[in-house]
Amino acid sequence: MAFVSNLPSISSSSSSVTQLRKPNSFNTHPFNSIHCASCSSTSPFTEKHSIRRYERDNWIYKNQLDQSSYCPLPPDSNSVRDYDIALQLPELKKLLQVLREKRESGGPGAGDGGRGPGNVFLVGTGPGDPELLTVKAMRVIQSADLLLYDRLVSNDVLNLVGDDAKLLYVGKTAGYHSRTQEEIHELLLNFAEAGATVVRLKGGDPLVFGRGGEEMDFLQQQGIQVKVIPGITAASGIAAELGIPLTHRGVANSVRFLTGHSRKGGSDPLFVAANAADPDSTLVVYMGLSTLPSLVLKLIHHGLAPDTPAAAVERGTTPQQHVVLAELKDLAEKITSAQLVSPTLIIIGKVVALSPLWPYSSKERSILVEAK
Ligand code: SAH
Repeated sequence: MAFVSNLPSISSSSSSVTQLRKPNSFNTHPFNSIHCASCSSTSPFTEKHSIRRYERDNWIYKNQLDQSSYCPLPPDSNSVRDYDIALQLPELKKLLQVLREKRESGGPGAGDGGRGPGNVFLVGTGPGDPELLTVKAMRVIQSADLLLYDRLVSNDVLNLVGDDAKLLYVGKTAGYHSRTQEEIHELLLNFAEAGATVVRLKGGDPLVFGRGGEEMDFLQQQGIQVKVIPGITAASGIAAELGIPLTHRGVANSVRFLTGHSRKGGSDPLFVAANAADPDSTLVVYMGLSTLPSLVLKLIHHGLAPDTPAAAVERGTTPQQHVVLAELKDLAEKITSAQLVSPTLIIIGKVVALSPLWPYSSKERSILVEAK
């Protein structure tokens, strides 16, 4: 399995958990050189980096960024939101105006000869590694007038955006929405009506826990056609990275994607664990960090073996990838001690033991060896 050879190998003396950090060999991104205490995170998923993304457009923050030690982001997230919007709205309005004028004059970028609306593409960008983009996504990204992106779209993917395109961060993190879903809908609609080629970038696949369906529905109701370009969902991208087959003859005959989100922000996951506790199925849990302890208890209560192999992967397929491997009963505790944060994907099932990274001996690995 050469495709995982870039990950550190596991010593036979591993303890009950394995934590692996992907080597930072690709970590030469210019965003990492920002000189600013409150902007010091190197996460490709942190919205704080959006300041640099705006800089590439040369449409705001230009003067501030001339001062190398200037840090324009206010410290608390509410004021970040107000600040972002206050700074960007005049520019957005200007851009809309230019597009409308272009459209009236029938010039280039006017969309359908200046008569019809522009195109809206809902594009999946995969889990983070830009090489996991589809050729179609690349082409559309490079031809866009305006791109709206959220937190899961990595810097490396944003680096592919053409010089003339405008990039706008519309992401959400827990407790901090840079824009509401309604504002995103309005932006998409206004720009599409002005004849622009608008690209809505979404991490992974736009139609897997991505609210892509809602945006599509809204625009279609307003008479705007939306083209969807699928992306590699976190489950596929991360399973491939770890060498975990999500299904495997004789080990798992189905795979289930679950949201770990709780009803009304509680600690209970939404789905019914009773039918999820199937030893012959692989469970992949998105957004599952905060409800994991409750999920594990329910799965074990409903009959899943406590020693079922499991993996938790933070920022999978990026240079900051952090992998924790543990038996189900130990997973929540090991995730806490490894201090994993969102985005983290959890994979539970016997197939996890088929990964060359799995540190224990297991009967699943013998099945793999026998099958060769
Ligand atoms: N549409 C996305 C999922 C969005 S929901 C997709 O198809 O992948 C957000 C959740 O996806 C995160 O909380 C996390 O569970 C998972 N996720 C997405 N990208 C990830 C990554 N690179 N590493 C780990 N988890 C990821």
